[in-house]
Amino acid sequence: MSDEQSQGDTDGDVVTVAHGSGSGRTRDFLDERVVPRFDGDGDLPVGLSALDDGAVHNIGDQSVVVTTDSHVVSPLSFPGGDIGRLAVAGTVNDLAVMGATEPLSLTCSLVVEAGTPVDLLDAILDSMERTCEAAGCAITTGDTKVMGSGEVDGVVINTTGVGLVPTGEHVPDAGLSPGDKLVLSGPVGDHGITLLAEREGFDIEGDLESDVAPVNDIVAAALDAGQVTAMKDPTRGGFATAVNEMVRKAEVGATLDEPAIPVRDPVASTGELLGIDPLDVANEGKVLFGVASEDADSVLDAIREVPGGEEAALVGEVTDENRGRVVLDTGFGQRYLSEPEGEQLPRIC
Ligand code: MG
Repeated sequence: MSDEQSQGDTDGDVVTVAHGSGSGRTRDFLDERVVPRFDGDGDLPVGLSALDDGAVHNIGDQSVVVTTDSHVVSPLSFPGGDIGRLAVAGTVNDLAVMGATEPLSLTCSLVVEAGTPVDLLDAILDSMERTCEAAGCAITTGDTKVMGSGEVDGVVINTTGVGLVPTGEHVPDAGLSPGDKLVLSGPVGDHGITLLAEREGFDIEGDLESDVAPVNDIVAAALDAGQVTAMKDPTRGGFATAVNEMVRKAEVGATLDEPAIPVRDPVASTGELLGIDPLDVANEGKVLFGVASEDADSVLDAIREVPGGEEAALVGEVTDENRGRVVLDTGFGQRYLSEPEGEQLPRIC
């Protein structure tokens, strides 16, 4: 494949890695080719065209939340986790940010390349088992396929999750209103920068680690502590994509206090070496919350009590101005925070 194709060409004849970026090109692909083909909205409170973290069906006094994700990360194992932990946490987290913090059921569809060592598969499955325990969930059905050597690269895992919330209590990613505060559950950029540094062969021993973890306890604590108006896990495309998506969907603006956005020192310095902004890369154990202004302090305190939420921070405010845009206040001036263009990091999750 030529460089031009792999970076995302414009001729429209072939799928490029940019189609999987999670931001602009993915959205265009879904809006033009996927959403119009299916009657995916029906009378659902959250259906296909919402492009939210999951779908919501109302059935009696319960809402059923459904979400799915395929995991293609490379390498399969990395500092802080592996594809197994990622596959469970990713789906648990998409349920959680819809408001379903106690997963009812998880599926696991494994696609394995012939020749994969059984020990490696065991290690991945052990990791899935431990992550299920941590998230309080179980895998209840699944599928296993083996493809020939070279027909798939190692292991691909799809997980689908189902969860319940009382009807009307799901939380969409489109619920922000002017005046809401934006609360981030911890430092951003760890997963993406760690993966890229690992791939580039940097000596990162001890300095960098993926944040991959279930966040359902953090979300449950936040929901208990106050009115959460919108949530999103800033995965592929990073914090910058998540916050832009939330303001665009709600037709509001946002002003962020850049110095308040937590980024660990080794993540910031490695990002600088790699020429990658930590705000643009995937996180796998973080949540961005919109919170009613009067509840921001209590929600922040509650998140900080939960392991993994100790470094939660108030990072900004939703505004009436600059609708559809995110303004980053650097302390010295202001600039727009846009989504990353194209695809810097394929196979990040
Ligand atoms: Mg998500």
